[in-house]
Amino acid sequence: MADKDNVRVAVRVRPLNETEVTNGCRSAVEVNALSGAVSLRTPAAAAASEPAKTFTFDVAFGPDSKQFDIYNQVARPIVENVLEGYNGTIFAYGQTGTGKTFTMEGVRSVAEKKGIIPNSFAHIFGHISKAAGDTKFLVRVSYLEIYNEEVRDLLGKVQSQRLEVKERPDVGVYVKDLSAFVVNNADDMDKIMTLGNKNRSVGATNMNEHSSRSHAIFTTTVERSERGLDGQNHVRVGKLHLVDLAGSERQSKTGATGQRLKEATKINLSLSTLGNVISALVDGKSTHVPYRNSKLTRLLQDSLGGNSKTVMIANAGPADYNYDETLSTLRYANRAKSIKNSAKINEDPKDALLRQFQKEIEELRRRLEEEEGGGDSDSGSAEESGGEEAAADGSPRRRRPRRLTEEQVAEVQAQLAEDRRRLQQEKGMAEAERRRLKQQVDQHEKELAQAQRAHDQLAEKLALLEKKIIVGGVNLLERSEEQQRLLEESARELERRQQNERQLQQALQMKEAERLDIEERYSSLQEEAVGKTKKLRKVWQLLLEAKCELEDLRAEQQREKEGLLENVRQLTSDLRLQQLLIDQAIPAEYQSMVEQYASWNDEIGEWQLRCVAYTGNNMRRNTDPADADRQPEPPLVDLSHVYLSYSADGPGVAIRPKSAKHRQARPRGSAVPPGTAARQRM
Ligand code: ADP
Ligand code: MG
Repeated sequence: MADKDNVRVAVRVRPLNETEVTNGCRSAVEVNALSGAVSLRTPAAAAASEPAKTFTFDVAFGPDSKQFDIYNQVARPIVENVLEGYNGTIFAYGQTGTGKTFTMEGVRSVAEKKGIIPNSFAHIFGHISKAAGDTKFLVRVSYLEIYNEEVRDLLGKVQSQRLEVKERPDVGVYVKDLSAFVVNNADDMDKIMTLGNKNRSVGATNMNEHSSRSHAIFTTTVERSERGLDGQNHVRVGKLHLVDLAGSERQSKTGATGQRLKEATKINLSLSTLGNVISALVDGKSTHVPYRNSKLTRLLQDSLGGNSKTVMIANAGPADYNYDETLSTLRYANRAKSIKNSAKINEDPKDALLRQFQKEIEELRRRLEEEEGGGDSDSGSAEESGGEEAAADGSPRRRRPRRLTEEQVAEVQAQLAEDRRRLQQEKGMAEAERRRLKQQVDQHEKELAQAQRAHDQLAEKLALLEKKIIVGGVNLLERSEEQQRLLEESARELERRQQNERQLQQALQMKEAERLDIEERYSSLQEEAVGKTKKLRKVWQLLLEAKCELEDLRAEQQREKEGLLENVRQLTSDLRLQQLLIDQAIPAEYQSMVEQYASWNDEIGEWQLRCVAYTGNNMRRNTDPADADRQPEPPLVDLSHVYLSYSADGPGVAIRPKSAKHRQARPRGSAVPPGTAARQRM
């Protein structure tokens, strides 16, 4: 059964930074942590008692909020779900410089400043250390970046490589060849983040600019295997996506031109598609959600409107000069609240690695035991209990495979020594016989060494696989133990605080109800008049706010439109240049021919060409007069098989089909436009 719930939305407002304080900036944002309300009003507007714009969220964090508060209130519930086998996603959204990276990663060297990613690891391994001993876990991570609609593996060996986004009916959307690292403790994760971040900056001329234009997705997959009520082992797989989005600031503000504008345009694609996906999901009328329009939304399709528990953290700056961007962030976040997801536990999915590893381990153990000559009598029961034996101190001890027994080795070696001695002593032995014996001895020695090597390799492989699987109840926290302790302490503190707040809230609500009750009970006409005037004032205030809101929306829409128009102008100019190049190279009649046979392939999001060169072929075969005016369906080729060529008659287009069979079948002098056939030979 899937749980239906809304995407939770949190807002975090960072403190004014030093520069802002020095420049005398003032805060335009007010946060009410109790009610989750965030109000926005410039100091000037406040002075003129203009109404503030107020939005309410699931949680709101003011400038004084601590990293642990964010973790415990926002991330902890999601990570707990992931440990249960749900998918979870946490997005950090907002303008550049508002604290997205601070929220997701934080300062990893300072315990209280660690962000959600490092804290999630302390949490996950803390959970494993408390799990029952017969639960097995496999934790792995991957880290990727989307920049200019290109996917890069931040943990990959070849950083110049771009990865493809693929889809399969059984496993859904995935990134082909993305590396995944198995981690055994929270400290491994630290090394992996450092490696990924180093790779993020590779090739970036300006790191700030790069990170503000790219999306980073840190994914942790937790697989757990335990015995179900049916006595069988079941694997549950939870996937946690921690997403540091590109800066949401309007691109026209950055004053990008030329190449940079092109990049900005592309980055807008992932971010604006994210916005469009949200719009389509909350609209209620849209039947089509444009997930496929960008890499980000394709990869995170489940996170919005699908099988995932999702939180969005909208980050905002408090300073008054950020007013426009902050307002747009709050509006964006406000819309996301209405997205409905339906998450379910992923049980025994096809691509679970844990089961595969366990099978491999069993197979390796069996082979090793066979080699050792059948194994001992208790091996059967050890296999059944997952190959673990409890040591006297209660901690699980892995059954180490034995090497060839010492007696066996000694026996073979004694035989070899004996043979050698015979070689030495029997001087009178015929030369041929001596050589044969020596060869035999050498051969034996080689075989012995080979067998030993093969055995060692198997044992090594087994140990490697066994190391990847973590057994519940084993403490793997090491240096992160402190982090886990701090986390738990602050979770308890939070629990106390929330209880307190709930009580206060209740008291407040009661007071409010009493007040309203009194207001409603008019004892005289006079009082009624006063009451109605009050109500009128309130309604008047609401009207003013609504008018203001309308005006804001209009202004924002206008800005958006201008941004889009700017993009259109740039693209039109690019298009003209491309057209000029094409006109120089391809005569008009060929252009229209190519155009006629080009068709859009929605599956792969590219134009494809029906092979023009086959047209004549097909037309010739159409000898039946009844078929005369039926257009033949030419086969598809992709545009990479279209070649431009030059000859004495001027430039032209040639199409070289992929298969040699087609090439041979092409008739000469067919209905192919003049000049084309000759050039097809190139
Ligand atoms: P973004 O990733 O959104 O561009 P950063 O996370 O890089 O923003 O934050 C910009 C700067 O502000 C960094 O120096 C960061 O340390 C600081 N900062 C952000 N949020 C906070 C916060 N809540 N408390 C203290 N400093 C913060
Ligand atoms: Mg950042």
